[in-house]
Amino acid sequence: MRARVISALLLLAPACSGPPRPTISIDGDSIKTHIQKLASDEMQGRAPGGKGEELATTYISDFFKSIGLETQLQPVPMVGLTSTAPRLELTGKRGKTTLKYGDDFVAWSKQEKDHVSANGELVFCGYGVVAPEYEWNDFKTDVKGKIIVVLINDPQLADQTKFGGKAMTYYGRWTYKLEEAARQGAAGALIIHETEFASYPWEVVRGSWSGEQFDIVRPDKGASTVPIQGWITRNVASAIFKSAGLDFEDMKKKALGQDFKPVPLGLTASVDINNEMRRVDSKNVIGVLEGSEKPGEYVIFTAHWDHLGIGEEQNGENIYHGAVDNASGVASMMEIARAAAKLQPRPKRSLVFMAVTGEEQGLLGSDYYADNPIFPLNKTLANINIDGANVYGRTDNHIEVIGYGYTTLEDILKEVAAQQERTVVPDQAPEAGHYFRSDQFSFAKKGVPALYTKSVTSEDYKEYTAKRYHKPSDKFDPSWDMKAAALDAGALVQVALMVVNSDRWPEWKPGTEFRAIREESLKK
Ligand SMILES: [Zn+2]
Repeated sequence: MRARVISALLLLAPACSGPPRPTISIDGDSIKTHIQKLASDEMQGRAPGGKGEELATTYISDFFKSIGLETQLQPVPMVGLTSTAPRLELTGKRGKTTLKYGDDFVAWSKQEKDHVSANGELVFCGYGVVAPEYEWNDFKTDVKGKIIVVLINDPQLADQTKFGGKAMTYYGRWTYKLEEAARQGAAGALIIHETEFASYPWEVVRGSWSGEQFDIVRPDKGASTVPIQGWITRNVASAIFKSAGLDFEDMKKKALGQDFKPVPLGLTASVDINNEMRRVDSKNVIGVLEGSEKPGEYVIFTAHWDHLGIGEEQNGENIYHGAVDNASGVASMMEIARAAAKLQPRPKRSLVFMAVTGEEQGLLGSDYYADNPIFPLNKTLANINIDGANVYGRTDNHIEVIGYGYTTLEDILKEVAAQQERTVVPDQAPEAGHYFRSDQFSFAKKGVPALYTKSVTSEDYKEYTAKRYHKPSDKFDPSWDMKAAALDAGALVQVALMVVNSDRWPEWKPGTEFRAIREESLKK
């Protein structure tokens, strides 16, 4: 049976809301067809550059053209770096230990050099955070030229007013830790992996960093990044602490104190990385449905088309298909675009559908777009991002807002969800920091109100995270039930239409960190 969902509010147009809202229906089976195509072996896991990119971006742009969107490609210049045989040696009073790449650590460099090495004292720097607004500084002593070891996540203080309490702030993200390490002048930064706090197992870290790594081409060729970047397992960290006469759990507790100072670990670390480099011309695929009254104002949908490509073999497979992550999001966006393009009369403002590259490598495509916007950011009313559709058919009648409490978009969603007999619920795993982990964050950082939702049940989410997330097993499954994905897509397009057809612009809620950025941007 074809899973066709007609947004309920169209059938129940409330008497108070003026003209009836346009009819939207999203076809779940068409979403499924796109996923099957985008996640096929032929697409080779859709790494930026190469055949997978060519096939995937052609598929998406041909589709946009076929439904009448004005279609363009935004070139995103990247560098691909493959770190070959990284070596990490620890030297102390008891001699030398060589850690095993993959099992014990992963390491890479974003500096565009053939050979990158570091040799320095190993120092534990707690959470590796400098946050003046929380009166927090983990770098009370100089770590210039040292190799720092830091915890994942941000301090979960007894005082829940700090660092967002249970909700992770950007200070908890690994990307932040590496940026701060660079500002501190460290020669290297190793993040201690803990499954509970990273929200994904070691195999994910290992899989994600085992192949080619991409970065935007930077004017300084990556010279301002921390030269050596990597992760170590909790077991390795624990052994290192032990050799220094310290207890890992004990040191974690100490790191929660505001008086914490960096602790030397009595070891010298020496790291060597050889880089193979190539330039990659990747691209964002953009389709525009021009607005009928205010074509110069926009709502932008995003979904990343890229995934991890071909990497380390797991259970006899080396293609990281990325069916849920994020063929499913792109597929949902494509069907949203098809439905929107059929609307008569046309929406008042323009709707933009953007399949972005390089999300898996650190939100590269959306970040590049936000730095080089084609449509002015202060004329962009909202971003709606889709990363991972619900392929399980069930929702518990919920729709979860990731980053709940940030924007008034969630209030619009509440109205729409109510018409679908669903309720909007807050982020079920605020400690995982999902709001900072997909492309909506690139827009939020520039002040554009951004919405990101999920509707999978917590059981389905746990199963997916444990068994499929960032593994070759994230594959298309013909038995998937697309009912929930179609319902979600129907809700999101309805939110977008309410925004593009309304007089009120979405806003950041008072007290949120992105509100001031938006206010500043709207003055221009
Ligand atoms: Zn993703």
